[in-house]
Amino acid sequence: MRELQAKPKYHIWTIGCQMNKAESARLGDFFERQGYQATAVVDEADVIVLNSCVVRQSAENRVVNKLHALKSLKRQHPDLKLAVTGCWVDSNIDQLSKGFPHVDYFFGPGERPYWLDGGDWEQVIPANTSPTAYVPIIQGCDNFCSYCIVPYRRGREKSQPVDDIMCEVEERVRHGTREVTLLGQNVDSYGHDLPDRPDLADLLTELNDIDGLARIRFLTNHPKDMSTRLITAMAKLDKVCEQLSLPVQSGSNDILKAMKRGYNVEDYRRLVEEIRHRVPGVALSTDIIVGFPSETEQQFMETYNLLAEFRFDTVHIAAYSPRSGTKAARELKDNVPAAEKKRRLNMVEQLQEGIATEINAGLLGKTVEVLVEGRKGGKWQGRTKSDKLVFFKDRDNRRGQLLPVRIEQTSPWSLQGKLNRE
Ligand code: SAH
Ligand code: SF4
Repeated sequence: MRELQAKPKYHIWTIGCQMNKAESARLGDFFERQGYQATAVVDEADVIVLNSCVVRQSAENRVVNKLHALKSLKRQHPDLKLAVTGCWVDSNIDQLSKGFPHVDYFFGPGERPYWLDGGDWEQVIPANTSPTAYVPIIQGCDNFCSYCIVPYRRGREKSQPVDDIMCEVEERVRHGTREVTLLGQNVDSYGHDLPDRPDLADLLTELNDIDGLARIRFLTNHPKDMSTRLITAMAKLDKVCEQLSLPVQSGSNDILKAMKRGYNVEDYRRLVEEIRHRVPGVALSTDIIVGFPSETEQQFMETYNLLAEFRFDTVHIAAYSPRSGTKAARELKDNVPAAEKKRRLNMVEQLQEGIATEINAGLLGKTVEVLVEGRKGGKWQGRTKSDKLVFFKDRDNRRGQLLPVRIEQTSPWSLQGKLNRE
């Protein structure tokens, strides 16, 4: 009797930033090239990879809870292999192995699953085709903002050569990708460590010439490093989306100084004015932290007022969480009570909900271009160039298409529309 050999199955659990998502996608490609098959059912998996995040205590707690929850599964299926990667994995793997003996493998963020031999880790042959893809262009961070653990877990900045990025994007476009998002903790410092010192504007200029590629995004920008040259490239290059992620973190100059961000509110204001002047209609997103050590009510209100003044399209709000090993955790007392952090967080969330409601309502009746990414809840789902999430109904398969959609309903989080067939 001939029996078809079932492929071994892998399951990847991912939390955290887009870099983690990009690295999980790459891991998935790697597993597929090694003959594995993806499964969404954890109980079915032969190998489970947790791609972890520790940027805040709440993320770290989720990782540890998940690991504990997987203990019984491992007991039921002793052959199951459990692997952990991402920023939870620090340099002290011996200690981690002692604390979590049911984990088979630990490997650092972006590293190769070392126990699988064969197959080229560097080689990029996307096994999964997707209309949109994340492409890491610079790893690590040299900034050491006082609150942030990222430089300790992801190391110093290391740029990917322009030619390698071009090859990867061309390969993805051949497999159906229409939009790429270039990733780095600070994309504005791209290239400074490469031999001929290209910058992000040079990279965008080259990518813009790739036939079949429709859209280019990039994140995250650092307000102290974003150059006029980059803004000029954004304004000039047709495929570069009018969307920018520019974390401000605080509206108080004293707090910005304690955070070691390297700019003040006036610098930030000048930068936003220049961007909005040169790239009309640009959608801006930002990150802020409330309840940084010693943040007074007045300093918090400066952040609140800054958000009201700038009217960002999207704001990611976090309550300060001390991360051991960082300068802030070493030297500053986490003295804003949890309930007060929560109150400040809720206040800015409410403010932002109102602002996003108004901004999105401005799109009512307008026709926008949507790149369709997939289906959700019986509808097609995609994004505009300005990164607004749009849903519409249609019977045909629209995945990967760029389509005009007329907006009929708006909310602070997404837009509903109808395919414009004229
Ligand atoms: N490189 C990016 C973001 C890195 S971390 C930047 O420079 O902004 C992503 C976000 O997590 C940060 O923007 C910050 O708002 C938040 N964050 C980082 N460390 C934090 C901490 N200790 N407590 C609360 N939020 C934090
Ligand atoms: Fe962290 Fe600052 Fe680097 Fe962003 S720029 S990753 S916040 S140290």
